[in-house]
Amino acid sequence: MLNFEKKTDFFVGIDSDGCAFDTMELKQKECFIPCTIKHYGLQGVSKYTREAEEFVNLYSKSRGINRFPALVETLNWLRRRPQVVARGIQVPELPRVTEWIHREKKLGNDALKKEVKATQDPELAACLEWSEAVNHAVAEMVKGVPPFPFVRESLEKLQGLADVAVVSATPQEALVREWEEHGIASYVTMIGGQEFGTKKEMLQKSTEYPKGHSLMLGDAPGDYKAAMANQVLFFPINPGDEEKSWQRFFNEGIDRFLHGTFDSAYQQELVDAFEKYLPVNPPWPVL
Ligand SMILES: [Mg+2]
Repeated sequence: MLNFEKKTDFFVGIDSDGCAFDTMELKQKECFIPCTIKHYGLQGVSKYTREAEEFVNLYSKSRGINRFPALVETLNWLRRRPQVVARGIQVPELPRVTEWIHREKKLGNDALKKEVKATQDPELAACLEWSEAVNHAVAEMVKGVPPFPFVRESLEKLQGLADVAVVSATPQEALVREWEEHGIASYVTMIGGQEFGTKKEMLQKSTEYPKGHSLMLGDAPGDYKAAMANQVLFFPINPGDEEKSWQRFFNEGIDRFLHGTFDSAYQQELVDAFEKYLPVNPPWPVL
């Protein structure tokens, strides 16, 4: 849970990756996708791999899920695409990785490393190699990404009126670096990374505020679920339309929130629009 002194009567939680910062596009498109194509021998269907991976990680209901289930889902969509079948490209199946995903609670490189050591399984070893290559690519690529337009303006507008906290599943150290790099750390009361618990746990802070006085901004279904679980209002930052979303928050959402007109009809309208941005099924034919 977030631990800071309550200074105002309003609480705002902000997700960081893909919500305040445009880092998801960069990470997925420039780091994850090239690594998947290279490590899984998908050069012959690179275009379709890119479309599948973007769909899973950025533009579907799976947006924001852990990298390992996302990889399995990407390969599954690819295998079911007629153009891929027609080209005769073998898309690898990952039964051992899938089995590990179902069993392991902390899906990360550390846990996978232990598993590879214990089993010497080549499929798991290849997956670890892929994941480490991704981390290497991210460390080289991701820097100098400013917050979306109207993030800073919104933070300024909320100054002194609401206690604002970063509520994120990214490691704390990376969050502090990103928020300080762009001079917006000073606007927030607290930066909550994965070490503080899940987003759902962090949002329990909202119980210290009057009913209807807490709001979460996020870009993924998981953010919405965390808000709902705590009866916190949700302002979606729509994937692909982030600037418009932040502008709307700045011009309209903040005032409605602070003046008690963020009613259920308004909430529903925002969520309905958000849901349309994230379909369950891809736009291409599926076998
Ligand atoms: Mg996010």
